[in-house]
Amino acid sequence: MAEQQNKMEKLVSLCKRRGFIFPSSEIYGGLSSCWDYGPLGVDMKRNIKNAWWHSIVQSRDDVVGIDTSILMHPRVWDASGHLKGFSDPLVECKKCNLRFRADELDEQKCSVCGSVLSEPRQFNLMFKTFMGPVEEEAAVVYLRPETAQGIFVNFDNVMTTSRKKLPLGIAQQGKSFRNEITTGNLIFRSREFEQMELEFFVKPGTDMEWFDYWVNTRYQWYQKLGIKAENLRLRAHAKEDLAHYARCCTDVEYHFPWSWGELEGIANRGDFDLRQHAAFSGKNLAYFDTDSKESIVPCVIEPSAGVDRSMLAFLADAYDEEEGTDEVRTVLRLHPAIAPIKVAVLPLSKKDILAPLALQIYRDLRQVWTTAYDDSQSIGRRYRRQDETGTPYCVTVDFQSLEDNAVTVRERDSMQQERIAISELKKALSLHLNL
Ligand code: ATP
Repeated sequence: MAEQQNKMEKLVSLCKRRGFIFPSSEIYGGLSSCWDYGPLGVDMKRNIKNAWWHSIVQSRDDVVGIDTSILMHPRVWDASGHLKGFSDPLVECKKCNLRFRADELDEQKCSVCGSVLSEPRQFNLMFKTFMGPVEEEAAVVYLRPETAQGIFVNFDNVMTTSRKKLPLGIAQQGKSFRNEITTGNLIFRSREFEQMELEFFVKPGTDMEWFDYWVNTRYQWYQKLGIKAENLRLRAHAKEDLAHYARCCTDVEYHFPWSWGELEGIANRGDFDLRQHAAFSGKNLAYFDTDSKESIVPCVIEPSAGVDRSMLAFLADAYDEEEGTDEVRTVLRLHPAIAPIKVAVLPLSKKDILAPLALQIYRDLRQVWTTAYDDSQSIGRRYRRQDETGTPYCVTVDFQSLEDNAVTVRERDSMQQERIAISELKKALSLHLNL
């Protein structure tokens, strides 16, 4: 346990030191549970979102994308049940006033000062704000707590404009906001985060088949991107723990350094959402099935993932320390598709004679991949820096390169080096990276 805690501390420190993740508004002391992504973090996060988009939208015929606004008509949250039901039980310490989520406590007393806690009350997690210049009840709007509702309210728009048949999925990525009672573990639970959600609409009767399909597909996705199988598990929710509208739900969980935690939930939501929005909006959201010549309300399977949580899982899983003869090598063994930098170009010496060739190679490679150029300090130090940020390949330009037009390519995990002709470099890297 202590070792795992230690790993988390090291990871947090690496994220800060190397520019993956910073506390929000740090120069003002930080804003609790909000995070900023630095130069490496933003590329890594974008890679995760692109990998998801590629697998869910781009490579499929039966899913289309959408990007809806964060602020929505307040009736949406009435229809979805969020206004009434999107709450957690909150208890407050009667002495030090700290607040906790009652369902997360082992003991019914304050974990900080040991005093008595208040009775639980339901605390709504939606952030409220006002639209327009008048702060009155009529102008209240909410920051969306999930991206899914933007998809449901556009079901008819997408169905009629895309001219597709069921099954059809609509996918969206974007920010969500939840006024969580307790936050923590870096980006695992924050109040502003990003989601990647798919609503996959199917004919009633085929929903359980599709549910199984999506549980399996999503479970595989994390493994294809390098997460170790032993650190992933599926957890089916017990009937009594299901939301009232859900027919079944299975979470993909990751073994984080502190415990198992949810990465993604896959739910069979039946026809609840479309029926609710049809009832509240008065619009017909049924689908006319040309095969059976019947009007039906589709069922929906929802794989709902968090970008930030996945990023933390990818980082934690990739973090490794290798005992060397004289020092420990810290290496992020990230899958090349996720790694923020794919290649680093390193001239062996800072002497001017190597720079033109090294810069030429760097400028050429960065047209294709995110590429770094580093000419400061010893080559050993520079390799370590790239290992720590997960760069899969380093290209070293040395004095011999000026003679033989070849460079040394070093692979991050094995540290093996091979000599490759500059004319063959792009081809070789593209084979190795296999993106
Ligand atoms: P939890 O039980 O951990 O609060 P949840 O079941 O409420 O999560 P969902 O509503 O199913 O979460 O949201 C789908 C996904 O969105 C989660 O699996 C997670 O990856 C992400 N997510 C939800 N809340 C947060 C948060 N506060 N911070 C970061 N990611 C979140």
